[in-house]
Amino acid sequence: MPSGRRSTRRPWAQDHPELDVERVRGGRSTESAADGEWVVQRVSGASGKAYTCPGCRQEIASGTAHVVAWATDDLLGAEAGVAGRRHWHASCWSHRARRR
Ligand SMILES: [Zn+2]
Repeated sequence: MPSGRRSTRRPWAQDHPELDVERVRGGRSTESAADGEWVVQRVSGASGKAYTCPGCRQEIASGTAHVVAWATDDLLGAEAGVAGRRHWHASCWSHRARRR
């Protein structure tokens, strides 16, 4: 029986952050979806801008609290993911997650 090197050991130290629903209520959270890892940031909408929600194609009026989501595993890198961030109605975002 060869006592050669056993390289089956893997660093499992990178524990996967689980979605903590309670934590969503304030600030930022990370969500796993069928299409990747997303960072979801709650915003107050106080920036004074209006956005179009990709979920329902309706406008998110300025001053409306909503979420901003971007992919952290974008094929072009995290920066591209942030650059491609989208503004969603909070309810549309949660529906999106449920649909997939
Ligand atoms: Zn919407």
